[in-house]
Amino acid sequence: MANDANTVFDLVILGGGSGGYSAALRAAQLGLDVALIEKDKLGGTCLHRGCIPTKALLHAGELADQAREGAEFGVMSTFEGIDIGGVHKYKDGVVSGLYKGLQGLVASRKITYVAGEGRLSSPTSVDVGGERYTGRHVLLATGSVPKSLPGLTIDGVRIISSDHALVLDRVPKSAIVLGGGVIGVEFASAWKSFGVDVTIVEALPHLVPVEDENSSKLLERAFRKRGINFSLGSRFSGVEYTADGVKVSLENGKTFEAELLLVAVGRGPVSQGLGYEEAGVAMDRGYVLVDEYMQTSVETISAVGDLVPTLQLAHVGFAEGILVAERLAGLKVVPIDYDGVPRVTYCHPEVASVGITEAKAKELYGADKVVTVKYNLAGNGKSKILKTAGEIKLVQVQDGAVVGVHMVGDRMGEQVGEAQLIYNWEALPAEVAQLIHAHPTQNEALGEAHLALAGKPLHSHD
Ligand SMILES: Cc1cc2nc3c(=O)[nH]c(=O)nc-3n(C[C@H](O)[C@H](O)[C@H](O)COP(=O)(O)OP(=O)(O)OC[C@H]3O[C@@H](n4cnc5c(N)ncnc54)[C@H](O)[C@@H]3O)c2cc1C
Repeated sequence: MANDANTVFDLVILGGGSGGYSAALRAAQLGLDVALIEKDKLGGTCLHRGCIPTKALLHAGELADQAREGAEFGVMSTFEGIDIGGVHKYKDGVVSGLYKGLQGLVASRKITYVAGEGRLSSPTSVDVGGERYTGRHVLLATGSVPKSLPGLTIDGVRIISSDHALVLDRVPKSAIVLGGGVIGVEFASAWKSFGVDVTIVEALPHLVPVEDENSSKLLERAFRKRGINFSLGSRFSGVEYTADGVKVSLENGKTFEAELLLVAVGRGPVSQGLGYEEAGVAMDRGYVLVDEYMQTSVETISAVGDLVPTLQLAHVGFAEGILVAERLAGLKVVPIDYDGVPRVTYCHPEVASVGITEAKAKELYGADKVVTVKYNLAGNGKSKILKTAGEIKLVQVQDGAVVGVHMVGDRMGEQVGEAQLIYNWEALPAEVAQLIHAHPTQNEALGEAHLALAGKPLHSHD
């Protein structure tokens, strides 16, 4: 549909990342006329600066580790080093292939794609470069950017964000990673595999602090074994430049020096100066507030993705975007259960979870009503073959459903699909125990954990 003064789209979307483009694709599929406005590249953070390029780096790191460890498997291999140009070429190839595919998809659904920076000009319109795009409804999906701390300036050279880290033209000798959340531990892991001397600084008492404490502790043990240094429980107090790098100080008086500092303290919403408040959209600290149907305080405006205060994950953006498209097309929609969203941290070893932590379950149901079981991957044949260590921990409400699955170990991210079905279908341990899991797979460990929880452990020692 072409835009002119009289055109009224069914939906005008500001931002072409995971949240925006998924809404565009689904809305177009349902017969709505859609305009999708993007100032940079279709695909947004996930495709160009997030999920996809980081996982390519992590995979290159995995190959480096395998080259180093070949002898443990009787394979003669040596690690000669990282050709960072080659790594970028591989990573960029993955990204550009997916980018082309996505552009084709958007074109094939007859979506009006508008390249340019947009600004909300009324509850039903967005202005882009002097042109007005009017819709029955507007979807805000402008995403997020890396945050910093007060007094900490990201210079892009020695003090960098994940955006810079993904295009770094060298492998640094050493690096400090400020923040032990998902993004921080993923970079720490990839860099360590590349041969970087890494130190993570996390103010909270654990790495990946939103995960079940057992997962955090297992990851810390694994990172210690890999020689990844970390400091927990003390906050950053300052950074200064040294002759050839940076020196970071913590509130507890400790200092660390390295060639560069990666600031990975979270991401903040992109909403400033975009006309949201002027249109009457209720906000909180830059985030757009929405109800469970992603509707803002203005009837004609919805918002999705990292811009709203829900989990900052690409698949959450997809789900929220689809929900809005279906609601606007008149389909019956149900709110998202955010506890049921699978979460994966793709470091080595991986951390994957769905549902709630043991601590949260005790808070909700009472300490005496929560049952847990841990299955050690040491008893799992495939994990042994891969030489990976870890555990699967289940959290159950006594005599009821499994409400949390928490996994640590290489490739555990691939197991989260079944874990998600178990949680979301409110499965009882006995029901899962009855399902046969293929041998030898790591997936079998999930079956074994449920056998144990159902009171009939097979390959469990405890
Ligand atoms: C390093 C890193 C690794 C990550 N890894 C994972 C992972 O493994 N799995 C996972 O699920 N998630 C991951 N994420 C998170 C994921 O990338 C985000 O949750 C997701 O991209 C959010 O989608 P979004 O559409 O809300 O925002 P974005 O993807 O940020 O898209 C917003 C878009 O809006 C555009 N825009 C902004 N303002 C305007 C304007 N005024 N006019 C026009 N366009 C505008 C931007 O250019 C951008 O393209 C990662 C993030 C990072 C940074």
